Amino acid sequence: MLDRFTETARRAIFYARGEAAERGSEEIEADHLLYGVLKTDQALLERLGISVDALQELGSSFAKSDRGRPVSPPGIPLSIESRNVISQSAAAADRQGSPQVGVSQFLAGLLAGAPRLRKVLTDAGAKVESINSAIANPEPAFETRVQAGWEMAQGRFCTGIGYDLHRLEAGRKLMIGGVEIPFDKGSVGHSDGDVLAHAICDALLGAATLGDIGTHFPDTDPKWKGASSLVFLEHIAAMLGEHLGMISQIDAVVICERPKLGPHFPAMKHALAKALKIDPAQINLKAKTNEGVDAIGRGEALAANVVATILQI
Ligand code: MG
Repeated sequence: MLDRFTETARRAIFYARGEAAERGSEEIEADHLLYGVLKTDQALLERLGISVDALQELGSSFAKSDRGRPVSPPGIPLSIESRNVISQSAAAADRQGSPQVGVSQFLAGLLAGAPRLRKVLTDAGAKVESINSAIANPEPAFETRVQAGWEMAQGRFCTGIGYDLHRLEAGRKLMIGGVEIPFDKGSVGHSDGDVLAHAICDALLGAATLGDIGTHFPDTDPKWKGASSLVFLEHIAAMLGEHLGMISQIDAVVICERPKLGPHFPAMKHALAKALKIDPAQINLKAKTNEGVDAIGRGEALAANVVATILQI
């Protein structure tokens, strides 16, 4: 959902995260988001009738944690209320028929998702009519180069590495990249044994410093027995969103003696991208054999190596 946010709206989240970090807050609260929105858009500030001094006062009114030290990003997730604000902002853009979420829609989302902030605004000097008008008639959001402009966006690129290996046995399904490949052997595993999906999970979790697949989906949990690994990817995509991470690129190598995987790559990219809610063009897949060497070369196992890059707002 964050990829719908214009660069300006993402900068507002960046400021909010900075404020939360500065105050030692465990989560990015809706108050921090409001501060970020007001700080980002001078025109909106004027439209509401809030002075720069009042904005500074608002910032300094935030509670400071007694932990007494700034939290180092990227370890600050959105609070539940803030996640609701993000959804409500997208809903405000939908109502306008806008594919993008700009700062005005963000403000509408803030007041829909956290109505108590209305009082914060009026206390800072905003007039009720100005607030109502800003919500009822948000400025249209149009900024070009939203996707291509990622490298310009506030935030930092983080990378993660993922590796997985599964044994191959006769009489099992061979699932790779969310696609069933016709073959006389399949991978042994607690879930569907999708070596590529598992390595992608670990690479994404690594990029976001959120641990590993075994912690989030333990193979001792009967819930995941026979589970489609695409479900893991869907869970991880949601977790990334909560932690303000946006997938930039995934690059993978699958090492497997047989069968030939290349013809299945388009279907795999489509399945993986759908689960991760990204564009298939953001995924690059490569296949290698092991030249007949060791267990992979003898066709007893297959493995995958993945590097994932995310933009951490
Ligand atoms: Mg695995």
